Amino acid sequence: MKALDHLHLIHQFKGNPQMNNRRGFLSETFKGAALTGAAALSLNAQPSLAADKAPKKTPFEVPQVSLPVVGSDEVFPIRRIYCIGRNYAAHAIERGSDPTREPPFFFQKPTDAIQYVPIGEVVDHPYPSLTKNYHHEAELVAAIGVGGKNIPLEKALDHVWGYTLGLDMTRRDLQNMMGEQKKPWEIGKSFDHSAPIGPIHKVSETGHFKEGAIWLKVNGKIRQNANLSQMIWSVAEQIVKLSEANELFPGDIIYSGTPENVGPVVVGDLIEMHIDGLPNLSVKVV
Ligand code: MN
Repeated sequence: MKALDHLHLIHQFKGNPQMNNRRGFLSETFKGAALTGAAALSLNAQPSLAADKAPKKTPFEVPQVSLPVVGSDEVFPIRRIYCIGRNYAAHAIERGSDPTREPPFFFQKPTDAIQYVPIGEVVDHPYPSLTKNYHHEAELVAAIGVGGKNIPLEKALDHVWGYTLGLDMTRRDLQNMMGEQKKPWEIGKSFDHSAPIGPIHKVSETGHFKEGAIWLKVNGKIRQNANLSQMIWSVAEQIVKLSEANELFPGDIIYSGTPENVGPVVVGDLIEMHIDGLPNLSVKVV
């Protein structure tokens, strides 16, 4: 519809009582639709109510991405994958920012980014398309079991259900290029298989991870080597900040940032990463 036609229609609405009624009906319809949306959301938040409803027919299946839970026959369903940027001072400096002034910032990966890496196995990790500078980032991952908004710092860790370790694999050349052009650098971070990750360990088994070695080797040689205590924003502080921006939900996971000395891998490389208190994670780039 041309802009002029559109204006004409609005004019007709204004001048015609019948049309005014129709407009009223339309807005009521929209209100109804909005309520339906809200009701659907609250059903999602209450699985017992949702289960009472007859299953909805869908034209195809969309699988729920989940991770095994160590020592349990349950799986941990993944809802959203949050990642914090530049959360170790030396890494912030190597990425060209000032670690003393920058507030925390987050991005997401799609659940399709999950590549499960079982304990004690070396999983083939596909070198992705479009990049010539593919980087490893070793990170502690916190798994949320209790959601919330505006979570206070002293309660933040009560929302953590478990932990694991993972790689925030990055098409660094594309991330840099998009950043220079002031475009979203999603294509550098949020792609298929870009989040190799171990199984979830219950916090009741491991406790919280506030310090301890985190390292990553490529072909047996140390590349990244730091301590979790060097995070600029702790896991608890990340939960506080994230819950100010978005309500957190069970199933959300948070990649808590990588230390310095990120770097490239090529086809054939073996990546092994470690966090004190967790079994190592290994992938081979193919
Ligand atoms: Mn990262």
